[in-house]
Amino acid sequence: YNHVYGKGKWKDFDPKDLLLTYNALKVLEARYLLKDPNTLRYIETPQMMFRRVAKYLASVELKYGKSESEVKALEEKFYEIMSNLRFLPNTPTLMNSGTRLGILSACFVIPVRDSMTTPEGDGIYDALRAMALVHQQGGGTGFDFSELRPKGDVVASTAGVASGPVSFMKIFDVSTDVVKQGGKRRGANMGVMHVWHAEIEDFINSKSGKLKDVQLQNFNISVGVYDYFMEKVERGEEVPLITPRKTRIPGTDHDYYINKARNYMSEEWAQEEILNELEEKGGAVWLDESKIITVDEALVIAEKEGAIIRWINARSLFNEIVKSAWDSGDPGLLFIDEINRRHPVWYLGKINATNPCGEEPLLPWESCNLGSINLEKFVKETENGKYIDWDGLAETIKYAVRLLDNVIDANKYPLKQIEQATKSTRKVGLGVMGLARMLIKLGIPYDSVDAIYLSYQVAKFIYYHAFKTSIELAKEKGSFPVYDPLRYHDIWESARPFEYLLEVTKVEGKPSEYVRKLTAIVDKLDFSELKAERIKHGLRNATVVSVAPTGTISIIAGTSSSIEPLFALAFIRNVAVGKFMEIDSLFLEYLRKYELDNPEVVKKVAETGTVGENMFMPATIRKLFRTAHEVPPEFHLLHQAAWQQWNDSGTSKTINLRSEEPPETVERVYLMAWKLGVKGITVYRDKSKSQQVIYFGIKK
Ligand code: UDP
Repeated sequence: YNHVYGKGKWKDFDPKDLLLTYNALKVLEARYLLKDPNTLRYIETPQMMFRRVAKYLASVELKYGKSESEVKALEEKFYEIMSNLRFLPNTPTLMNSGTRLGILSACFVIPVRDSMTTPEGDGIYDALRAMALVHQQGGGTGFDFSELRPKGDVVASTAGVASGPVSFMKIFDVSTDVVKQGGKRRGANMGVMHVWHAEIEDFINSKSGKLKDVQLQNFNISVGVYDYFMEKVERGEEVPLITPRKTRIPGTDHDYYINKARNYMSEEWAQEEILNELEEKGGAVWLDESKIITVDEALVIAEKEGAIIRWINARSLFNEIVKSAWDSGDPGLLFIDEINRRHPVWYLGKINATNPCGEEPLLPWESCNLGSINLEKFVKETENGKYIDWDGLAETIKYAVRLLDNVIDANKYPLKQIEQATKSTRKVGLGVMGLARMLIKLGIPYDSVDAIYLSYQVAKFIYYHAFKTSIELAKEKGSFPVYDPLRYHDIWESARPFEYLLEVTKVEGKPSEYVRKLTAIVDKLDFSELKAERIKHGLRNATVVSVAPTGTISIIAGTSSSIEPLFALAFIRNVAVGKFMEIDSLFLEYLRKYELDNPEVVKKVAETGTVGENMFMPATIRKLFRTAHEVPPEFHLLHQAAWQQWNDSGTSKTINLRSEEPPETVERVYLMAWKLGVKGITVYRDKSKSQQVIYFGIKK
């Protein structure tokens, strides 16, 4: 620089562009920066893109009575947090803000009823159409296929035989391939089936064994499980497999009993909340107090009605799930009771599915827009040591939540059902990226008790401030329309203590003085005061946080993805536009510190991507730079559980396992996950698939 511009002179230029890495520029150039459709020349630079997004999302505030100058001031704030790479909204918001394609959200859940089409637009082929419209514009979709009658069941209208949910899923899969989202982003799907479904075994095996790398390649699949089922697994008892066809008489007693049997609803939360509901409404038919019965009583009725196809040992069904997940990574589990127990607006109905990567359990037709804070930007250093810039973080959260809330107003919705559901709860999902690099900067190994403690504390801080912002926004612009101050469920009241997480995973140790001091500010947060404010002033968004995978936006921000450990210290990344060689810049810094930054060493590291086993590396480097497959599964889980405690939606996480791990490890992880109170779980054993749905890295 000095040579070209004169000493110190290059600083006169806007340094923000210099924050972008080579990979960030490649991704932006390939998919994000707008081009003139006729000449195919770029019509914007990265800074112009951030400006476009900031301007567009600030402008909706004019509708709320803000003046031109106030809107301009907000635009500056939005621009600042994005261009400094402290916060980025999800891909559709970056790509589509201010353009003709106006979907700005990444996450959708679409209902699928057991009918070809329905007047309400939620039949099988209605769902297919809805999916195509969402994919076309860059969103990902989740479906619960449990309403569809199993293979071999009767079809009354044609006197034929049903082909079953898995066969319909294949059509959704092919459609996803065909649409390819306008060439910018391939559609991703989550297919869910609940564990009581008569076709569950076919579903479990629909992506493994011979079908691995062949079938349902645009789907992640998850089995929806209940506490009832998990307890039966532990005891090795039988559970019923049920056909949903027998339960399609809405509003009848019959429907209620069998629904209850199907859903294995755990008694404590369901009954208490159903009773609350009764009190409010004076008792709808299916909520009649006298009809509240135990699951076992409901099963007797279901059996009598012929809804139970057969019984199966819960342990052997669970083993099938484990075997398949060990083989191919699918299926994951969704813990349906935990999802609904901790759903703040539980009174709107039961959640049965999530978006593709699991960070958004949503009601039918809901969508959610995400954005993530880049944690490594908040590690600061003075002569007295390192610290976390909590004020800067709180300030960033404030504008990030405001920006995400504006996305709901700026969004162009592909269907009126989606618009209506989304606007009534106004869910937003503020997440994080760069946790691994934050930890490295602070000198804390990812697989340490200190790291888990830091995750727990930072998650709590972010949740507190995001929630506080949402209350302030409600004061200014009103609460989400279906907000009910008394029935709204404050999820912090059910957050498990840090020590509980260590106990379940049998990890020993205590957080050090160092990490306690770093995060001491978090211990002073008063959530009960916040609750009083919520009741008094209202709440703008039914949910405020969500931990997304940040697959692409973390590349743009030049940081590690989400709450994941580093994948490899040097590796080749395959994305739609080509192959990228990556060396982690912090790793390079450390090599320099130890005068090991020569090409020979780097080449050697790139061969495996790791240094954990490399005896020639200094111990500090080996400990601090443990990669995804070197981190023990318990620590992967602990990070997920720590973030989930302070999260009103979901936490996306892949529990990466070494290729030589036996199926018993998957079993242990799945059982522990249930006890830790995460909402879903996915494992991925190294080399078990030739490629993953969204992106993958190859170590070379
Ligand atoms: N998603 C999708 N297609 C993709 C990647 C992501 O539809 O190729 C959706 C999906 O719902 C996922 C969500 O976007 O759960 C968020 O993914 P991620 O955080 O990786 O997206 P980014 O904003 O980083 O592109």
